[in-house]
Amino acid sequence: MLLEVRDLKKYFVLEGNGGRKTTARAVDGISFSLAKGETLGLVGESGCGKSTAGRAVIRLVEPTAGEVRYKGKDILSLGRAEMRALRKEIQIVFQDPYASLNPRKKVGAILEEPFAIHGIGTQSERRERVARLLRRVGLPPDHAGRYPHEFSGGQRQRIGIARAIALEPEFIVADEPVSALDVSIRAQALNLLQELQESMGLSFLFISHDMGVVEHFCDRVAVMYLGKFVEVADRKELYVSPRHPYTQALLAAIPSAGAGINKERTPVRGEIPSASFPPAGCAFHTRCPIKEKTCEQAVPELKETARGHFVACHLRA
Ligand code: SF4
Repeated sequence: MLLEVRDLKKYFVLEGNGGRKTTARAVDGISFSLAKGETLGLVGESGCGKSTAGRAVIRLVEPTAGEVRYKGKDILSLGRAEMRALRKEIQIVFQDPYASLNPRKKVGAILEEPFAIHGIGTQSERRERVARLLRRVGLPPDHAGRYPHEFSGGQRQRIGIARAIALEPEFIVADEPVSALDVSIRAQALNLLQELQESMGLSFLFISHDMGVVEHFCDRVAVMYLGKFVEVADRKELYVSPRHPYTQALLAAIPSAGAGINKERTPVRGEIPSASFPPAGCAFHTRCPIKEKTCEQAVPELKETARGHFVACHLRA
């Protein structure tokens, strides 16, 4: 396995009115593995903890507990220098290409940065690498002399992708990489990621709230609710035979849902509860259309209900 994550947790201590402290369990014990060349989708509503999970896996936020092994190496125990060396292989594409590119730097300088940080090449070699990168993501090399604001949203995300692949990584966390783009150009950005995945053998942790996008891009899918996985399965299995009521509700909200989706199922109702005050028992019980008394009392474990298909539900597992 390229990546193995065990019981990963990220808690935030928040200070409320009057200095009262609460703990938000943004990520509360998730485990998964990722094979080389595989794409695992992490889906759920905004506030379910998926972006924090992606950042914790690559230590952009420091996990509270758990284990992350990359090529067998425990990356949570690495020192700063070792972690910096590992960043050549592990990259992130952010949701917002506007915010993630320094507006005061020309694109050429932004794309040269990874090479400069890792001491790769002379200045003219770096310029040549930048030109190749721009071509690779479908932009003319002479655009290196422009500033980020001179590009469209889709072009800016291409630059973000170029920066992520500059050092030929093996693993990329893609955090809502197309959510900020116009619907009309999302497919182009996804196709670019897919083409790069095939040509570079990349593995992705692909984070999205959009079940339609995940269906297009991922091999396997983990559905997350209030910091925990509630269902994990191969993409096809999940879209044709979803078992968890939350997954079914998410799928009911997309018009193109697969043949196995009962159209009588309704999209999820209400708001996701706060991660500081998760409901007792099954955290989804406050919104679940089929809950029973036991759901309010006992936390359901994630159990394998069919080969590779895991569900955390008292009534469906
Ligand atoms: Fe619904 Fe109960 Fe299953 Fe939770 S455990 S998803 S409340 S049926």
